[in-house]
Formats: sequence, C-alpha cells, structure tokens
Amino acid sequence: MGTFTGVTLTELAAEAAGLGRGAFWRPGVRTRLLLAFLAISGFSVLAAAAAIYAFRQVGARIEVVDTQLAPALTSLEVSRSAERIIAAAPALLAAADTARRDQVASGLRTELARLNERLLDLNRGEAEAALLATIEQSVTWLSANLAALEDLVARRLVAGDGIGRQRRRVHETQDETQRLLAPWLMVIEGQIEGSMAALRQAGTPSTMEDASQRLLAAIAAQRPAQAAQRQFSAVVDMLAEASTTDQERRLQVLAFQLRRALREVEATAAELDGRLQPLFLAQVAKLRELSEGGDAIPAARRRELALVREGAALLAENASLSAGLTDAVDQLAAAAKGDIARATRDALSVQRTGTQVLIALVLLSLATSVLIVWLYVGRNIVRRLTALGDGMVAIAAGRLGAPVAAEGSDEIAAMGRAVEVFRRNAIELDRLLEERSQAAARLEQQVRERTAELERRRAVLRVTFDNMEHGVVMFDVEHRMAAWNQRFQDLLDLRDDQVGLAVTYLDFVRGLAERGEYGEADADEEVRRRTDALDRAFLNERTRPDGTVLEIRRNPVPGGGFVLIYADITERKRAEREMAAARDAAAAASRTMEAAYRELKAAQASLVHAEKMASLGQLTAGIAHELKNPLNFINNFASLAQELLVELKEELGPALAADGGDEASDIMATLSGNLGKIVEHGRRADGIIRSMLLHSRGGSGERQETDVNALVQEALNLAYHGARSQNPEMNVTLERDLGKDIAPLEMVPQDITRVLLNLFGNALYATDKRRREERGGAWRPTLTVVTRDAGDAVEIRVRDNGTGMPPEVRAKLFTPFFTTKPTGEGTGLGLSISYDIVVQQHGGSIDVDSEPGAFTEFTIRLPRTTQRVASAAREPADGAPA
Ligand code: ADP
Repeated sequence: MGTFTGVTLTELAAEAAGLGRGAFWRPGVRTRLLLAFLAISGFSVLAAAAAIYAFRQVGARIEVVDTQLAPALTSLEVSRSAERIIAAAPALLAAADTARRDQVASGLRTELARLNERLLDLNRGEAEAALLATIEQSVTWLSANLAALEDLVARRLVAGDGIGRQRRRVHETQDETQRLLAPWLMVIEGQIEGSMAALRQAGTPSTMEDASQRLLAAIAAQRPAQAAQRQFSAVVDMLAEASTTDQERRLQVLAFQLRRALREVEATAAELDGRLQPLFLAQVAKLRELSEGGDAIPAARRRELALVREGAALLAENASLSAGLTDAVDQLAAAAKGDIARATRDALSVQRTGTQVLIALVLLSLATSVLIVWLYVGRNIVRRLTALGDGMVAIAAGRLGAPVAAEGSDEIAAMGRAVEVFRRNAIELDRLLEERSQAAARLEQQVRERTAELERRRAVLRVTFDNMEHGVVMFDVEHRMAAWNQRFQDLLDLRDDQVGLAVTYLDFVRGLAERGEYGEADADEEVRRRTDALDRAFLNERTRPDGTVLEIRRNPVPGGGFVLIYADITERKRAEREMAAARDAAAAASRTMEAAYRELKAAQASLVHAEKMASLGQLTAGIAHELKNPLNFINNFASLAQELLVELKEELGPALAADGGDEASDIMATLSGNLGKIVEHGRRADGIIRSMLLHSRGGSGERQETDVNALVQEALNLAYHGARSQNPEMNVTLERDLGKDIAPLEMVPQDITRVLLNLFGNALYATDKRRREERGGAWRPTLTVVTRDAGDAVEIRVRDNGTGMPPEVRAKLFTPFFTTKPTGEGTGLGLSISYDIVVQQHGGSIDVDSEPGAFTEFTIRLPRTTQRVASAAREPADGAPA
C-alpha cells in the first residue's frame, strides 16, 4: 500500500492566510470588488437622496394646499350662509302672525349661529386679518339688524292685531245699526202702503184728504231714515278701507272724508223720529270714536305702515351688508385659491426637477457599472478565472501534466496555487488507486473461494436440515413459506402442492383445518385462532387424528416472520402416561400401606392398652381380693371392740365413778373415738375395694331392649333423692327434655343406669359446690337432661351450670382414680367405669364440653347396631385413659 505524499489543505490555508500580509498593501479581489460595488452603490445612494429631497418638497407643498383648502371652503360656506339669512329676512317681515314670525326667526337664529361658528373656524385658520375684520363687522351688523327686524315685526303684529279688533267693532256697530233701522223702515213702508190703499178706496174727499195727509207724513218720515242708513254704511266702508289700505296718502284723504261723512250723518240724524234719534246717535258716536283720535283706525294704520317702511329699510340695509360680506368672503376664498395654485405649481416643478436628477444619476450608475464590469471583472478576474478553469478541466480529464496559472498575489492566484496542489494530489491519488485496484483483485479472488466454501456448507446444512428429527418450517415477513424440511412434510402428511414459496401460513392452516387436523371444531374458527398474534413465541401440544402427538413450537424471527418446529412426542407421551400410572399405583399402594400401618399402630396401642388395663384389672382384683379379708377382720374386730368397750364402760362405770377415775374415762372415750375412726375408714376402704372389684369385673349383665326415657327418668330420681337425703340443703332445678318416640334400644340397663347415676351425681355435686361458693345471687343451680333419637343412635345429654372444668381436669377425666373431690367424697373411678360401659361395652361414645365457672355437658351416644367391642380393644378418646 502506498502512502499519500500530496500537499494538505492545512498547508494551503496557511498560504491563504499569508495573502495580503505583504510588506506593502496590495488589495485582493474581495477588496477591489468591494470598492467597485461601493462606487456603484454611491450613485444609488445619491439617487435615493435626490428622491427623498423631492418627496419632502412635494410633501411641503401638499401641506400648504391642505391648510389653504379648509379656509377656502369655510369662506364659501360663510358666504352661502349669509345669503340664506338675507333671503329669509323678508319672510320675517311678511309674517302674518306670531307663530309664523317665531318659526322664521328661529330659522334665522340657527343660521346665524352656524355663520358665527364658521367665522370661528376662519379665525382659527390664518385668514387675512383685514378681510376677516370686515367680515366680522358685517356679521355683527347683520345680527343687530335681524334683532331689530324681529322687534319691529313684533310691534307690527301688535298694531295689526289692534286694527283687526277695531275693524271687528266697526262691523258689529254696522250690524247693530241695521237691526235698529230695518224694523223702523218696515213700519214706515207698511204705513205708506196702508195710506195708498186707503187713498185708492177713498170715496169722499175728506177721507181722501186724510189718506193723502197720512201718506205724505209717512214719506217724510221714510226719507231721513233711508239717508241715515246709507250714510252710516258709507262711513263703515271708509273705515274698512282705512284699515287695509297700503297708501299713506289715501289714508289722509280717507281721514278727511270720514270727518265730513260723520258730520253729515249727524245732521241727517237730527231729522229722524224723536224716538229713533238718540239710539242712532249713540251708534254714530261709536263710529266717531273708531275714526278719530290717536287710537282710531286711520292713526293705527298709519303707525303700522310706518313700521313696514322701517322694516323695508332694514331689509335693504341687510342686502347691502350681505353684498359686502360676500365680497369679503370671496376675496378670502380667492386668496386661499391663489395659495393653493402656487403650491401646486411648486410641487409640479419640484417633481419635474427630481425626475431629471434621478434619471441622470441612474444613467451615471449604469455607465459606472458597465465600466467596472468591462475593465475590472472582465479583463482581470474572468480572464484569469477562465485560465484557471481550463487548468482544472484538464486535471479532471486526466491531463495531469497541463500547467496551472498561479502568478499574482490575490485570491485567484491563491486559487491557482490550490489547483496546483490538487493537481499534485491527483497524481498521487492515481498512484494510490492503482495500488487499490490490485488489492481489490486479490480480495475478489478470496471472496470467490469463500463463496464456494459457503455453498459446500449450505449443502451440508440442507442435508442436516432435511434429516432433522424435528419438522421445521419457516415463514417470512409476509407469512409465506420460506423454508421447510422433509421431516415437516412427513410429520404433517403434506403433499408437494401443499408446500412451496407461494403458500401462506393462512393457506397452510386452512388446509390442515379443512382436512380435520384440528378435530371436529369449526375450520374458520380454528384458522382465526391460529393466525392470531403470530409475532409471539408459542408452545403447544396437539394430538393428530391418527393419534400421533405433536409438540409445536413457534419462535418469531427478528425482523419479521417466524419458525415452526414440529416434534413427534407420541412415544414420550406414552412413556409419561405409563410412568404416571405407575406412580399413581405406587402412591395408592403406599397410601394403603400407610393406612394399614396406622391401623396396625392403633391396634398395637389398643392391645398394649388393653393388656395394661387387663393386668391393671387383674392386679386391682387381686389386691382388692387380698385386701378384702384383712379389711373384713379390721372392720369386724373394730366393731366388736367398740361393742366390747361399751360393755366395759357399763361394767366398770359405777366403780370408776366411785374411784374418781376421770383419767380412765377419758382414755376410754379416746379409745371409743379411735375405734369409731377405724370403723369409718374401714368402711371407706371397703367401698373403694368394692368399686375396684366392680371395675375389674367389667360388663356382666344381660343386654335387653330398654326404653331410654324411662331409664333416664328413673336414674335422675334415684340420684336426686339420694343426694337430697345426704345433703338436705341441696336444691337444684331439674329440667327434662326427653325426645318423643324413641324406639327401645338394646343395652345392659343396669350398667347404663350406673353411668347415668354417676353423671347425675357429678352434676349435682358441681352445682351444689358452686351454690356453696356463690352464696346467693340471681344464679339458680340447674340440671338439664336431653334425650334424642338420632336414627342410628340415641343421644343423651347431661348438662349442669355448676363449677365447670379447667382443661387440665378435662384431660384426665376418664383416668381411673382421678378425682378433685376431697378424701372420702370421691374415688375417681366413676367416669372411668362409665367410659368402659359406654365405649367398650356398648360401642358408643362420651364427649365432654365445659367452661370453667359456667357449665359442663356430657353427651353419650349409644348406637342401635351395637358392634360389640371386645373389652380388650379399647380405642383411646379425648380424655380417655391412655
Ligand atoms: P369422682 O366423682 O369420684 O371424683 P369421677 O370419675 O366421677 O370420680 O369424676 C372425676 C372428676 O371429674 C371429678 O372429681 C370432678 O373433678 C370431675 N367431674 C366429673 N363430672 C363433673 C361435673 N359435672 N362438673 C364438674 N366436674 C366434674
């Protein structure tokens, strides 16, 4: 292998770092490019500055336009508002009533307020001061004028109202006068007609004379009345005209005519009938009042007309004011417009100049860029880079001998040097590659040899695989059969078309299920169960329909897929079964042997015990027998000695009394006492010996059918009365609960009576003992006897609420001679004998339950089918003698 001897990049970097650190400063490509770009960018910066300057200038002009626009508009509005006021003012003057006047006045006031507001807006702006002062002055006058006009109109309306009222009075007076004159004229006309009729019918000159006289009188009366009526109406008409005329001159004429007409009507009134005259003159007086004087209609109308005249003057003044105002406002608007036009012109010129400057700068910038690209980039950098690129292409094409341009001191020169380094390295690399290819050829040879070796091994493995004892099949990631051996095919009886690379696990399992490989179960269900969770390891056994037992093991393959291994374990299973059977048989045998052994042990223990008891019985009988004779002698001779002592006392009595033999009497008394004790204890000993003899004798009586309840009753009476006779203080409540219909039971009645007497005696003793210990209280001594027919046996329970027994007493209860009673009161043989009778003779059982200080209960079970148990084979029981 050759070693790489080319120049490393570290060396190159070191060379590059040295670049530009020469003795004097020589700018590199980077610095020069930077300078070129800075030059180009300089124009851009200038262009931007020019644009910004132009924008700012235009902005300032627009601001001017903006500030001037508002006052111009406001001026226009002021002018329009003033016009509206002037237009509305005549309507105010012409208002016919107060409501109309108020409506117009309120409209005017609103408009005036609006005008003032606008004026304030103008003030805020920088409107021309002189013009503004004029406008303000005009507006002030306008408002003053309007106020005066309003006041004037008010007065005019009052005057108009007064005239109206007087006009109505004129008409009323006219009506009254008509009502006064009309009936009068009617009567006169009646008289005229009557007189004319009489004249026509008059036959005589005298009647004719009379009639014509009356006619003349009536006509004379009618004429002044009619004249008065006419003249009155004329005055009324004149007054009506005076109240409405608009002409001052006509008003003066009317006043004159009125005066004359009134005089005429008064003159005519003088000719009227005396009765009518005063009434008519009163009416004429009313008219005179309305025609003459300061408050009369003509005077009032004159004042009203003067007011109208004044109003018109005010309106005219208003109009001139408005003209002045509009003029001033127009001047103001014109000034603003002038400013706006100036500003717009300025902005346009700035924009034009800015555009020209920008175009010039852009052109300059383009020219500079072209110069830089052409002179520097093109001629200096690109040419050298192209030369360098050619060098590199030559190296890449394998022409490693081609020279590389590397003169100069900038980055391109450094690059040229780097390419030179690469060229040298490439030459070195070529050498190395040559060495590598030789090594690769050697490696290839090795691989070929190894492959051949592997092929050989694979064949060996295949043979081994096919001859394996286990059937093996492998499924790939997609659960397709990947490999299997002959044994697999044989074990599962698979045809050649049932195996193959196309067969999936599903097909395989379905094939097996369908041909009943999994028994009677539903094929689909089996397939589903067996294709579930294939990625888990699994071990199972299965018996094939032909009885072969297969052990199936599934192992997942890392990376997917799994292997199934089938082993025929029929033989192993059979051997296991046989072994299990053998083991079971052995276990059974061992159990039988154990039972037999236990029985043997029990029998042995029983035998030993029986033997012990038998020898104890014999011993007891022997001892008792041997003791009985000497005891008889002792008893007999003691009794005899007592009797003799009595006789001796009788014989020696007088002599001793004479002799003063106190001492002898004492001795005899003592002797007599001693003999008494001997007799008493002798009897006890006799009792014990009798008991011992009884005990050793065992069962003796005949078995016979016995009524259990009767037997129990009898024994209870006997025991109770016997105990009472010995201890009259004793008082126990006896409770009997005797089962009904208990069939007679086969037993030895005397023996069972003995047992019962013993149990009752013990119970009475225990209750009495407790009574003595307790001395009073609520507790009552009780003895309960219960009998029950339990079918195959009869149960007798004796329960007392006496002292009860501690466990240590219970443990020794049936041991011969065990007693807790004081000397002379118990022998300790009662329960021992009872046990013998019940358990040994009658094949029954005795159980005890007790709680110290509370109760004791003995339960005797006497079976109906008595298996007679030999007295020798006694089974030990709880507390039984061991
Ligand atoms: P004895 O009555 O002569 O003492 P037993 O064999 O009849 O002999 O009784 C043995 C002992 O069992 C008694 O001394 C007594 O302590 C105890 N015993 C028997 N029956 C009862 C009972 N009902 N209540 C309390 N203790 C009893």
